[in-house]
Amino acid sequence: MRWISAVLACWLSWQAQAYTLFVHDRDLLSVEIARHFAEDIARLAGLPVSVRLLSSAEQLRQASAAIPDSWTIGPATLSAQHTGALTQRTLGLLYRVDMPLQSPSGHRIGAIEDDAGYAPLKAANPDSVFVPYASSQTAIKELAAGIVDGVIAPMADLTMEVTRWQINGLRFANWVAQDPIVIHHDMNPALSARLDEAVARLAPQIHDFEARYLLGQTHPAPTASTLPWVYLIAMGACALASLAVLWAARRARRQARAASAAMPHRAPEPARAVDAPRSDRGQAYLNEVNQQLQQEVMARQAKEAELLAVQRELNDAHERLAEQVRTDPLTQLANRRHFDEVLAREWRRHAREQLPLTIVLADIDHFKGYNDALGHPAGDECLRQVAAALGQAFNRSGDLVARYGGEEFVMLLPSSDAQDAEHQVSRLQDTMAALNIPHPNSSTAAHVTLSMGIAACIPMGEDDAWGLVEEADQALYEAKNQGRNRYRVVAA
Ligand code: GH3
Ligand code: MG
Ligand code: MG
Repeated sequence: MRWISAVLACWLSWQAQAYTLFVHDRDLLSVEIARHFAEDIARLAGLPVSVRLLSSAEQLRQASAAIPDSWTIGPATLSAQHTGALTQRTLGLLYRVDMPLQSPSGHRIGAIEDDAGYAPLKAANPDSVFVPYASSQTAIKELAAGIVDGVIAPMADLTMEVTRWQINGLRFANWVAQDPIVIHHDMNPALSARLDEAVARLAPQIHDFEARYLLGQTHPAPTASTLPWVYLIAMGACALASLAVLWAARRARRQARAASAAMPHRAPEPARAVDAPRSDRGQAYLNEVNQQLQQEVMARQAKEAELLAVQRELNDAHERLAEQVRTDPLTQLANRRHFDEVLAREWRRHAREQLPLTIVLADIDHFKGYNDALGHPAGDECLRQVAAALGQAFNRSGDLVARYGGEEFVMLLPSSDAQDAEHQVSRLQDTMAALNIPHPNSSTAAHVTLSMGIAACIPMGEDDAWGLVEEADQALYEAKNQGRNRYRVVAA
């Protein structure tokens, strides 16, 4: 009896993994759709569906070809066999307000290299120089630093990153392109029918996923957008004042004429002889008033231009300061303070939307020994190299890598579960092995290694974010105790 239930459990767990939905992890919208879609198809088909995030179009193609009864959500270029477009993904052109763009044409444009939109964009804009980036986060930072003139990427991703990093002075141009996100599948007909049914049910909601991110897009630089209005209002006021003066002068003239007509004892004077000098005087007065007004407007415009320049400088200084406040000076990663802020925000969002959230804590093994053997400056260089490796491994849209303190780093992975994080962590371990930074003082390996703790959950309460960090810390502690150069997972 016992072995029958063991076999049954095995079969059930195999069944639980039988349907796999692959999704391109560089595209926030695809990931959101996949999560909702998995739930929907699971409800419809009565089968659990596991969502796997993969980081390149090539991996997606290989995985879906290798695994039967799987399907993928992603760009239409992946395969000819798909159900048709789920939605149109909006690609936006982001620019700096100090260098406005109307279109990508003739400019240096950052774009996401492994994104399906990349090749068609390059083909459609032959006079632009395209600079490939691994993630929209990096592209936006380079745009803010003036390395590229604009960035083209899915608007949902760009909006999320601009909000997350609180970067001011970036705007979307009117230029917008779209490309389809589709479902590809190669399944038995019965399952295909269920799939089509789920797609039909989901279609009306899909638009909302994108809208939810785009609604957060409220980062206009106040100076550039409000000051033209100030000019317009000032000009309007001047025009009104001129009209008022003209009207008053005409009215005075009319009253004077009426008064003279009402005085019969006075001999009527020849109109020309009297009116001409009066009207000359009125005209001269008006000219003077208008000149004065014009001078005032010009003086005001000069003042406003000055103000605009000062305000721009202030904005730049403010942005530099804000960047410094949230950046770790040694590694240029986000610092702990920024991590804490983003964690609190993401926790609330994930609780609201019931999405999985994952934290990875990483600690360099025997780092004190490294410093002791090679000196503190070499230790600093090692920290920078590890930081760069972390940035490479955790570069999905929305991922945040921060220096937690000393030789500890923390990664916040939105819309990811422990399994997704394990993939990224394995990739990081490969990168560290390939990087092969010699460690003369480690009992674990000849090169610098990391121990890591992963904790994942679907947030429930309002204030439990730090509990998740503690769980990751506990998992890290276990990894250290079990021999270092490894990771341990706590999944709620
Ligand atoms: P374990 O494998 O258990 O993590 O051992 P460990 O030696 O890495 O850990 P321990 O906490 O004993 O030492 C951490 C070291 O990290 C000590 C400290 O000098 C070094 N460290 C912290 N911040 C910096 C830094 O900014 N630069 C350099 N060069 N070293 C740092
Ligand atoms: Mg430590
Ligand atoms: Mg350490």
